[in-house]
Amino acid sequence: MAFQLANIAGRAVLVADGAYHDLSRLSGGAFSGDMTEAIERHGELHALNENLDAALADGSLEGADLGPPSPAPSKAFGIGLNYRAHAEESNMEIPEYPPTFAKFPSCISGPNDDIVLRGTAVDYEVEVVVIIGTAGRDISQADSWSHVAGVTGGQDVSDRRVQFHATPPQFALGKSFDTYGPIGPLLVSVDSFENPDDIGLSCGVSGDPRQSSRTSDLIFDVPTIIEYLSGICTLNVGDVIFTGTPAGVGAPKRQFLGEGDVVVSTFEGIGTMTNHCVAP
Ligand code: ZN
Repeated sequence: MAFQLANIAGRAVLVADGAYHDLSRLSGGAFSGDMTEAIERHGELHALNENLDAALADGSLEGADLGPPSPAPSKAFGIGLNYRAHAEESNMEIPEYPPTFAKFPSCISGPNDDIVLRGTAVDYEVEVVVIIGTAGRDISQADSWSHVAGVTGGQDVSDRRVQFHATPPQFALGKSFDTYGPIGPLLVSVDSFENPDDIGLSCGVSGDPRQSSRTSDLIFDVPTIIEYLSGICTLNVGDVIFTGTPAGVGAPKRQFLGEGDVVVSTFEGIGTMTNHCVAP
């Protein structure tokens, strides 16, 4: 049975109908409550989810202190130019291999955490994010989804000035400022989706719609990305893959993020993230 996992104040919980259930309590102590353990044992969450009793819920999701669904990944990857229209708006050619960069794990933050602006060319990038649940190397496309604990949402917040102010461009630094990697709100199991390769995503800035697409429009889909990355390095439990952003980012035609902006990102079957942009 499909499950929804969340991180509330550092504790792993299962979510159903807007209420959350502490995983340690639910499992009679078989799970410690640690998020990474829950991600690694994702196969066991399906059965536990069948026993959720609404009357015994530990609290409501509304107003809960949500943390990132993978709080301590060994690696966070970003895929650039992975939607045709976004590659075109960036005046870049359609790539032959998935253009990959690192977001250092220290940038990962919770789904409703503030984005602390550290520049005047800071951009939003709504993205579907996958979390590795079963470690592996040389994973075939056919096996790729079975290595994924679940799908979540994310913003690959990017400082365009730092990204491009050195030669060659330094995507890793421009995209790794603290707070520039909010992910969430829930980690949703792959079997929740009729087709995990066709998930809707959108975002708006202070009420102005900016981006809207579906992952069925990805140039490199999730199986292709996982096969490619795992052919180079071992994918570990909790590793995070930002799968790319659709057209509509701030650069070069629209506005960058400013103090007071509110970025609202919505992911079909996963939920909504709300991030306030604040001064340092
Ligand atoms: Zn991105």
